[in-house]
Amino acid sequence: MDHFQYKNNELYCEEVPVGQIAGQVGTPVYIYSAATLKHHFQSIQAAFSELDPLICYSVKGCSNINILRQMSQWGSGFDVVSGGELFRVLKAGGGADKVVYAGVGKTDDEIRAAIEAGIAYFNIESEAELENLIDIATDMKREVHGALRINPDVDPETHRYTTTGKKETKFGVDIERGMAVFETYGRNEYVKLTAIHLHIGSPVNSTEPYVQAIEKALVFIETLRSSGFTIDALDLGGGFGADYVTGQAPNASVYAAAIVPLLRGRGLKLILEPGRSISGNAGVFITEVLYTKRGGEKEFVIVDGAMNDLIRPMLYDAFHFIWPIKVTDAFATVKRTDPVDLPGLKKTEVVGGICESSDYLAKDRMLPPVQRGEKLCVFTAGAYGFAMSSQYNSRPRAAEVLVDGSEVQVIRRRETYDDLIEAETM
Ligand SMILES: *Cc1c(COP(=O)(O)O)cnc(C)c1O
Repeated sequence: MDHFQYKNNELYCEEVPVGQIAGQVGTPVYIYSAATLKHHFQSIQAAFSELDPLICYSVKGCSNINILRQMSQWGSGFDVVSGGELFRVLKAGGGADKVVYAGVGKTDDEIRAAIEAGIAYFNIESEAELENLIDIATDMKREVHGALRINPDVDPETHRYTTTGKKETKFGVDIERGMAVFETYGRNEYVKLTAIHLHIGSPVNSTEPYVQAIEKALVFIETLRSSGFTIDALDLGGGFGADYVTGQAPNASVYAAAIVPLLRGRGLKLILEPGRSISGNAGVFITEVLYTKRGGEKEFVIVDGAMNDLIRPMLYDAFHFIWPIKVTDAFATVKRTDPVDLPGLKKTEVVGGICESSDYLAKDRMLPPVQRGEKLCVFTAGAYGFAMSSQYNSRPRAAEVLVDGSEVQVIRRRETYDDLIEAETM
């Protein structure tokens, strides 16, 4: 469900025509819908309400401070993976007591800042990191809470770059080694190891990998408890799917129906770290057609957005539905499927202007014929879109806009050429 819909053959974000925003702010531009963000956050909250979970929105997917502020006002906590993300959360007014902090490479400075802020949990990824955390917390004489990230060794059947819960990944500790970690470090005065963390990968468009991972985690937790350790929280990480293609991702209630019964009455506080399932469908990327050309048998559409703006297609072979923001009656059917089956469509490659052959937004895509100056919408771009953007080829980053009802707010101005060299010494 999202608030990007066509009315009279024109795409709207909530009550505002997308073309109007593009006209005012220019292209390329990311546009987010506040109502969609809120809807996704609240549907996860509602689906899991029986367990009263702490929902820690995953900052890395979409980290604009204005969006974090909104999330915080709706009651969200935050999953951070760096000192920079913690900085953003605190600047946005997010409560440190609702922050969980994952990542395999936390530096001493980052750890100290997180202790100083008083975060809820360090999600600990290795024995060496835990040892270091103990040293720092002891030195600071501050009590902190840790969740040991375990690898349940389940396959989420997603892209190999976003698979994180298998043994061969760099994340977490193999479940077999978990007991030894608790035996060695689990009775520390300053680092209270009282929780288990999992994050199996993303997007995970079925419930089965979660069920398998939770079942393994529960067995592990019971073993720990019978050895005298107190475990009172389970963090399931993120990875719930977003609808890149209509109907592809289960909604929150489907995940909850599989997960809640396993955790009922276990004495475990549930923590969730959803990222793309909240922000994915809440954002689109609008780009303008510069040129069209033929190359061999191929039709190319060259647009003003590129891999520096949206890298997911080239990085993960990710699919993003693309459609013109203004359509004729013939192309008004815009269920976001792959492939779209309508007479008159042309097989097209949508590419950016960067000097790399891998700079594309879509390959072999059935699109209406488009012309120079037309604007295209790249859907479900609200997660790992702008957040992964760069200035490669010295291209200033796109603007970001947040729409709430009929209100339009530029939440990040388009970068200028001066921004490109701002941090460089001359
Ligand atoms: C990336 C990440 C998430 C969020 O993943 P989504 O697919 O966006 O839900 C949650 N937890 C951790 C530890 C992560 O690294």
